[in-house]
Amino acid sequence: MTQVFNFSAGPAVLPKEVLQQAASEMLDWHGSGMSVMEMSHRGPEFISIYRQAEADLRELLAVPANYRVLFMQGGGLGQNSLIPLNLAGRKPQPATIDFVQTGSWSSKSIKEARRYANVNVAASGEASGFTTVPPQDTWKLSDDAAYLHVCTNETIDGVEFNFVPTVQGDTPIVADMSSHILSRTIDVSKYGVIFAGAQKNIGPAGLTLVIVREDLLDSALAICPGVFNWRAVADAESMLNTPPTYAIYIAGLVFAHLKRLGGVAAMEQRNIEKARLLYEALDADDFYRNRVALDVRSRMNIPFYLRDESLNDQFLAGAKARGLLQLKGHKSVGGMRASIYNAMPIEGVHALVDYLNEFAGR
Ligand SMILES: *Cc1c(COP(=O)(O)O)cnc(C)c1O
Repeated sequence: MTQVFNFSAGPAVLPKEVLQQAASEMLDWHGSGMSVMEMSHRGPEFISIYRQAEADLRELLAVPANYRVLFMQGGGLGQNSLIPLNLAGRKPQPATIDFVQTGSWSSKSIKEARRYANVNVAASGEASGFTTVPPQDTWKLSDDAAYLHVCTNETIDGVEFNFVPTVQGDTPIVADMSSHILSRTIDVSKYGVIFAGAQKNIGPAGLTLVIVREDLLDSALAICPGVFNWRAVADAESMLNTPPTYAIYIAGLVFAHLKRLGGVAAMEQRNIEKARLLYEALDADDFYRNRVALDVRSRMNIPFYLRDESLNDQFLAGAKARGLLQLKGHKSVGGMRASIYNAMPIEGVHALVDYLNEFAGR
């Protein structure tokens, strides 16, 4: 088999052990004679897979008992509509939603929310070219927002929150953690809603995770589609309609794998070390450049530019020849990007660092 290191931002690298297990169980899951793909979502086999996946996720993130875990579809972008549709009813209409704009993904969330509510951009990093998280004491939060939305890791811009926002009163914080969930320990109780598309740091595309505090399940607008109503999804244990069964199964294998590795705290230590190695190589001289303010540099998604951008194609071709794949930056910002999620082994980072040094030396 060709040995590569895949730095894609998503869909992204998965643990080898998980893929091997899935391969060995592909035709016959635990003696059932069926592939997980062929099972009824209401049968005892799949229900056991589902329950174990939820239990392991709850354990990994220490999800408090008064939170529900929803396995949904529609992606992170789908939640950009579904969150206002499920939460704007907390306030008289039209409600106001507070946002902190820190990059491409929070900007998309803002645009979508405007269809359903008044939007207050409480703070924006746009003037800095999205290289900062505006300090909390500069935020202009509303008195009566339905909720505050933040994207705690901007996948394209490489900006990661290093603090949990504080809010006045009972305003819930909604956090888009698509690209760094399970990469670091978090205190779930500080958030009202945490959501994440699975294809970055959890499993295959097609699954969207929503962790929501129980008291926030009953504030949907009347126009919220029934199949995406959080209360209905929670009451049906995510089986209101057919859930993405195979993606849930793979996510469950990833959760079990993370537990075997020591859980989220152990992953965080590895991720700190991986990010340190890579930033150190990028900062070593001015051949490469990462523009993000030091204290909010993402541990997961590391965009960088070559000083001489005419070398971009040569850089990418050389990387590919070494099995270092998908390093091209997002088309909206150009340059390069290395995504080093949980499943990227430190050997992959070493290989990239060696290549960075070699290419700069040439
Ligand atoms: C990838 C991503 C999304 C969008 O996810 P889709 O599943 O493609 O809709 C949203 N937010 C963040 C932070 C992301 O990284």
